[in-house]
Amino acid sequence: MKLIGGETLREKTFFVTTPIYYPNGKPHIGSVYTTLLADFLARFNRLLGRETFFLTGTDEHGLKLYRAAQKAGKQPKEYVDEMSQYFKDAWSKLNIEYDRFIRTTDPDHEETVKYVVERIYENGYIYPGKYSGWYCVSCETYYDEEELIKEGDKYLCPIHRKPVEFMEEETHFFKLSTFKNEILKLINNGLVQPEKYAKGLLARLQNLQDISMTRTKDRVPWGIEFPVDKRFTVYVWFDALVNYISGIGYPHDMGKFNKFWPAIHIIGKDILWFHAVVWPAMLLAAGIKHPKKILVHGFWTVEGVKMGKSLGNVIYYDDLLRYHPDVVRYYLLKNGPVDKDGNFSWNELKEVYKNELSNEIGNLVRRVTLFAKKNYPTIDGELDEDLMNELKNHIDKAKTSIEKFVPSQYTVAALSIFKTINRYFTEKEPWKTNDKNAVYNSLASIEIGALVLYPVMPEISRKILESIGVDLTPLLEYQKKTFTIKDSPILFPKLG
Ligand SMILES: [Zn+2]
Repeated sequence: MKLIGGETLREKTFFVTTPIYYPNGKPHIGSVYTTLLADFLARFNRLLGRETFFLTGTDEHGLKLYRAAQKAGKQPKEYVDEMSQYFKDAWSKLNIEYDRFIRTTDPDHEETVKYVVERIYENGYIYPGKYSGWYCVSCETYYDEEELIKEGDKYLCPIHRKPVEFMEEETHFFKLSTFKNEILKLINNGLVQPEKYAKGLLARLQNLQDISMTRTKDRVPWGIEFPVDKRFTVYVWFDALVNYISGIGYPHDMGKFNKFWPAIHIIGKDILWFHAVVWPAMLLAAGIKHPKKILVHGFWTVEGVKMGKSLGNVIYYDDLLRYHPDVVRYYLLKNGPVDKDGNFSWNELKEVYKNELSNEIGNLVRRVTLFAKKNYPTIDGELDEDLMNELKNHIDKAKTSIEKFVPSQYTVAALSIFKTINRYFTEKEPWKTNDKNAVYNSLASIEIGALVLYPVMPEISRKILESIGVDLTPLLEYQKKTFTIKDSPILFPKLG
């Protein structure tokens, strides 16, 4: 029986990335969510049998980290070695399974950055000049005066609300303005999803300026040397963005690169400009194909309040881990902010745990496996077509939610499968009727439900499959099988 088929499966490979994170603190819910989205999509695509590559990592150069290391009394490399470990730790604890963790201090990455800069230079898109303007150290970016917040006689960064510095320096410019029409075309053709985020770019694109792509070495020594003029280091954004191609072998392993590129980039809305405008232009300038899609998400509020260090309400990854990582994953994907900002609430998380996970999924698996173990420890039967069609309907919705990038609807579809099985099992009353085939179909449906749930809850889903004696298989063609009940797991214990 076909679960998913048709044109969906035309593409044989899938490449997804997260931004590389600044390792100047522990990962918070924002970066957890971005990374989770990538892991979720990677797992779904693996389930479709696609060869998948999932790239994440840390962005380790630049003034901000240089200063943070100084403040900590450490050498920059020593500092980033330590801090990047927090991210690896977080991802492993949250059941995030990436294929490469790239660090911009990796030697192959540094070589690729130099190589790409040289290509862009040879192609005539880099020229020397002077730059002056308002600079936010935390963003590592210059701002136009109209973008800044004026407070008294001070200008503040619109993101950090900290005073910006007026700077003038020699630099090298990247001819970003050359690519205006090509970028406009990409954006009009749906490069950015959800589309609402693209609208903000269009106005700014009308007045597209060239941008500085180097910093003087004496001011920012902690960076990759600019190969065209060794008095400079490469501006940290240019360095960082290149990770998306260095991470899959450009130009050292073109076989791998050609197999996976172009990527789907997942980002928060605050870094859209660099990803949707600067990055495609850099690629075009270097003669490389533009990204396939840029999937954007919004911000989290916490208990209805904007999250911020100064407010002391930042949720870090280890705060979340008072719940099972898969529970955290389910809740974040269900409530996550894609087209608008989302809210995190401990109470709501608890309700979801009780009402959806424990009552609908946990109890069902426990009830059916207990009954089967006692009465039919090894069981086969015939698939109930009506039930299977109902499940297929939910799977279709799950698939559509991925195509439309609405992860919350995926969790709804997955839960609907378990609700359907609950209803079916209750209606069939096999404890009264000895309807063996109903038990068989409940188990087959639980297997299908666990497969659909896998991208969201990989560990729990494997536990369910193990309990009915089957392996994780692709969510494509369902193979009828004999079940041997191994266990009746309590998946979601009562909260203490
Ligand atoms: Zn800033």
